[in-house]
Amino acid sequence: MSIKSVVIVGAGHGGVQVAISLRQEGFTGRIVLLNDEEGLPYQRPPLSKAYLLGKIGESAMLFRPATFYAEQRVELIHDHAHAIDRTNRRVLLTSGGVLDYDHLVLATGAHNRPLNIPGAELAGVYGVKTKADADALSPLVKAAKHVVVIGAGFIGLEFAAVAAAGGAAVEVLELGDRPMARAVSPQMSDLFRSAHESWGVHFNFRCGVVALEGEAGQVTSVTTTDGRRLVADLVVYGIGVIPNVQLALEAGLDVDNGIRVNSALLTSDPAISALGDVAAFPCVQNGERYTRLESVQNAVDQGKSIVARLMGKAAPYVALPWFWTDQGALKLQIAGLSIGADNYVVLGDAGAQQMSVLCFRGEELIAVESCNRPGDHIYARKILARPPALTPVVAAAQGFDLKTWEAENRR
Ligand SMILES: Cc1cc2nc3c(=O)[nH]c(=O)nc-3n(C[C@H](O)[C@H](O)[C@H](O)COP(=O)(O)OP(=O)(O)OC[C@H]3O[C@@H](n4cnc5c(N)ncnc54)[C@H](O)[C@@H]3O)c2cc1C
Repeated sequence: MSIKSVVIVGAGHGGVQVAISLRQEGFTGRIVLLNDEEGLPYQRPPLSKAYLLGKIGESAMLFRPATFYAEQRVELIHDHAHAIDRTNRRVLLTSGGVLDYDHLVLATGAHNRPLNIPGAELAGVYGVKTKADADALSPLVKAAKHVVVIGAGFIGLEFAAVAAAGGAAVEVLELGDRPMARAVSPQMSDLFRSAHESWGVHFNFRCGVVALEGEAGQVTSVTTTDGRRLVADLVVYGIGVIPNVQLALEAGLDVDNGIRVNSALLTSDPAISALGDVAAFPCVQNGERYTRLESVQNAVDQGKSIVARLMGKAAPYVALPWFWTDQGALKLQIAGLSIGADNYVVLGDAGAQQMSVLCFRGEELIAVESCNRPGDHIYARKILARPPALTPVVAAAQGFDLKTWEAENRR
């Protein structure tokens, strides 16, 4: 059956990319893009960085201006999909509306893991997920004197950097023993720890939170697992996300830490694809294990891959994962997945905050983390995309340079 109508649930990075790519690739049928947030679809990364700092405004975060949707005949509907009728290929909307589809794309993203502790409902306690969160936080972060950040992952540390730049005293609570431990090497954690400390951020490792206390409904302090009470007029948590699988689960699709898709990003129903933060796919770089990646690259590339299939150019999804985070003066870019790395080669100078860490699993280069060395990131992506890979012995040689090696070994 030829596809005449595509319904996309969720207008984040993945969903919008599908709509854009469909038209770019010449799809002439009906495209419906469901957005259950207010306003035009926007990018999330600036919410904890430039937008929160007031360095960019709302229009700079939009994927496309309003005219794009009209001109490209993308029906942007503000509504929430509450059920899928797979037998009749229909999506049921909260408003009571019904959308027929030939192909359905689930791009529902993820929500913040909630803080399930007493006091989490107090005013002054935030997760950062939506533009509405950032709009509420922005004036508070400028006024806050004592900020407690729960979780030393990307989002928590991006926020810590913003709060410290605004002059607040910042305490970071982290159950692990180093920053961003699940995502980066010990060497890169050390660089970021030193930088944050130089900005006035104070880390509390192997330390969790028991409760938040307040006065007149406003948070005033945080009690830690080691029995201390930290003064706080603003608390921000970044303790991971939970994929938005409810719709898929109730429709009877395979779900296990995300909507399960095959290497073509199809769910257990061949008329339904899923992508982005909500999708668990057999990831080549993770030994074909079902993996959920939370990154712009993943959502965008998966969107393009689904459209290629819908337009008759099917190919397995094999894109190299990459990610970035901006914290104060540090830009960290990661190419590849460092899961299982056991050997590291460091290039550059941690003291000068310009350093790359080459992460090997045995002899195999699996990821490169670059702080303020954008050239290394670009060459790392090229090298990781086409083995035979660089060995640790070659990388550790005096004067080794990724750009030169890439040029000399280009095939
Ligand atoms: C503060 C912040 C900073 C980030 N920084 C970075 C960064 O620096 N680099 C990076 O690579 N990534 C970053 N990310 C992650 C990146 O934004 C996500 O990986 C990406 O947005 C995932 O895209 P998605 O399309 O899967 O989901 P999303 O962009 O989350 O979009 C999903 C949309 O679907 C909607 N939705 C859900 N259910 C329904 C329904 N039933 N009906 C209708 N709509 C529905 C949601 O409300 C949401 O608008 C950041 C994320 C956040 C929150």
